[in-house]
Amino acid sequence: MELITAVKGFKDILPEETGRWQYVEDQARRIFTAFGCREIRVPVLEKTDLFTRGIGEATDIVEKEMYTFRDRGDECLTLRPEATASIIRAYLEHHLHATDPIAKLYTIGPMFRRERPQKGRYRQFHQIDVEILGHEDPRIDAEVILMLLHFLQSVGMESPHLEVNSLGCPACRPAYRTSVQSFLAGKEADLCDDCRRRLGTNPLRVFDCKIEACREIITKAPSITDFLCEECKDHFAQVLSSLAIFDIAYTVNPRMVRGLDYYTRTAFEITTEFLGAQNAVAGGGRYDGLIRDLGGPDIPGIGFAIGFERLLALTADTSAPPPSRLPDLFIAALGVSAEQFAYRLCNNLRLRGRKVEMDYQSRGLKSQMKRADKLKCRRVLIIGDREIEAQQAEMRDMVTGEQVRVSLGDSFAWIDMLV
Ligand code: ATP
Ligand code: MG
Repeated sequence: MELITAVKGFKDILPEETGRWQYVEDQARRIFTAFGCREIRVPVLEKTDLFTRGIGEATDIVEKEMYTFRDRGDECLTLRPEATASIIRAYLEHHLHATDPIAKLYTIGPMFRRERPQKGRYRQFHQIDVEILGHEDPRIDAEVILMLLHFLQSVGMESPHLEVNSLGCPACRPAYRTSVQSFLAGKEADLCDDCRRRLGTNPLRVFDCKIEACREIITKAPSITDFLCEECKDHFAQVLSSLAIFDIAYTVNPRMVRGLDYYTRTAFEITTEFLGAQNAVAGGGRYDGLIRDLGGPDIPGIGFAIGFERLLALTADTSAPPPSRLPDLFIAALGVSAEQFAYRLCNNLRLRGRKVEMDYQSRGLKSQMKRADKLKCRRVLIIGDREIEAQQAEMRDMVTGEQVRVSLGDSFAWIDMLV
């Protein structure tokens, strides 16, 4: 019969990989907790409107990438392409802001985007996501970036490159938009279909286009920096001076606009030269209008998302997480009563937290030793029926080859050997 395979662009994470996933997750939890963040877990499925309203209609994600379908009750649902909108929905739905408008949240989990699968780009991928709600202060922007960089370095990422920009606010961005629109007017013929279509709705999207011709054109476009209002200019200057306090190197990239509509003021991206075309490891920014756009009060926010798979690809060689714990002991049993005894002992030791293995095929000693070797057990307890009667067994050290006689009486003194 033909094997059923996984869906294209959806990947299995196999046992030999999960150790590194767990290690990275543990580091994230530890570092984010130190910065006062708490975990939130939100569903992977939401009403489609949440994303069309939150992310913006004229974005790549909403126009082309969402897994949207009608369920059997004819409700229009979407597998989440990102976590920010869901987290804000939860924050509003559970009135978290009523008790404390400041919420520092993180979540780790799968996201879904129907993109063309390639290296570093999957249809189900994972993000480590942080959202800090309720703070407008530019020192928070720098603090979030500090935390992000510290985390990336803690898991072994080398030379992350920080790009920052200010995208302005509803007071100053419209003038910039108009100016980009007039800059692009007359150049329609050279733009790709998507960009041409979006000229009217979302001309800033052209900055995010990956098509060479569009990129070429947009390099000569006016710069947002020249359009920022006094408040945004001041906010951005303070973000940069706060980064300097921690000696954080950055490049101001006035052409970094980011693919989601909700960003205001600070936007940032972490890139690396080691990932080829998919060079962004993490991206984020401030979204001071999003909570209001989703029906909530006027509360500012800032956050980022790290691409888990890309981070792992980058740190494969530089960080070796502790190898998964090898078994403390293998019990090789020879004979019926020895096997019975071994079965009980094996599971009793596991109940006491020991990692113990045995064989269930009643094979000879040689095969059992081979199995112990394959499992990389440090020690083997060899028990035969005769040993059971004598309440004794042999304990072999698989590294030194040394073998000692141990008692199977009540006081398993040899347990202390199992370190
Ligand atoms: P890109 O420009 O590479 O498409 P993006 O701007 O769409 O990235 P964000 O929405 O900012 O990405 O998501 C944050 C991070 O999630 C990215 O920096 C990247 O590391 C990761 N990411 C995004 N899309 C994918 C994907 N399809 N497969 C794997 N990782 C992804
Ligand atoms: Mg994308």
